[in-house]
Amino acid sequence: MNVDILIGKTTEHLVPLEGTKFFIHQQMLHDFLKLQQSARLEGFDLQIASAFRDYDRQLKIWNAKARGERPLLDDQERPLEYAQLSPTEIVFAILRWSALPGCSRHHWGSDIDIFDGKTQAADLVKLIPSECIGSGPSAKLHQWLDRQIYTNNSFGFFRPYREDHGGISPERWHLSYYPISRRIIDVYTFSLFKKNIEDSDIMFKDVILNHAEDIFQRFFLTFDLP
Ligand SMILES: [Zn+2]
Repeated sequence: MNVDILIGKTTEHLVPLEGTKFFIHQQMLHDFLKLQQSARLEGFDLQIASAFRDYDRQLKIWNAKARGERPLLDDQERPLEYAQLSPTEIVFAILRWSALPGCSRHHWGSDIDIFDGKTQAADLVKLIPSECIGSGPSAKLHQWLDRQIYTNNSFGFFRPYREDHGGISPERWHLSYYPISRRIIDVYTFSLFKKNIEDSDIMFKDVILNHAEDIFQRFFLTFDLP
């Protein structure tokens, strides 16, 4: 496998998703359309809010948060006081909600963030927990997805961020396509992880490298299996 696929530096594995601005892994297209069709039969409009994201985009997101230009949220979605945080606290606050550039599952084309287009306008989707539970606009779609993933047929899609393991916050909106993401996890090594950070223009690089093993373990290798 081309290592650039792992770190978001190529688009060779992708195809455009017709009628949208999104790109996904070519080997996932067929099963995604089946999942979408199966949702449609139940009255949902399963739409993508985010799919492939490249390295540079993820780097911009990271650095904007690291500079305090984008809000940092705590576990209850409340904004944190940037000025009162140490560099280490900032790094770990970002990691709860955003991956390091080169380490995002969105680089792989196998992972998507979704919502119900029947009940939410695309430009109003925030991708926060309250949208996906209780009386949230996409809650019913996610209840249906739970049944598909854990008892019926979800065509290979699962929730990697289902439970809180002290790393990435639970993200019900995030689905991963197991046949591809499993293969990538298998070949993504710690040395690749470390070299990617060393080569990067990332803010707080020293802090990240000082905690590299902990971050790799907790925020990359720890996720829920199907
Ligand atoms: Zn996501």
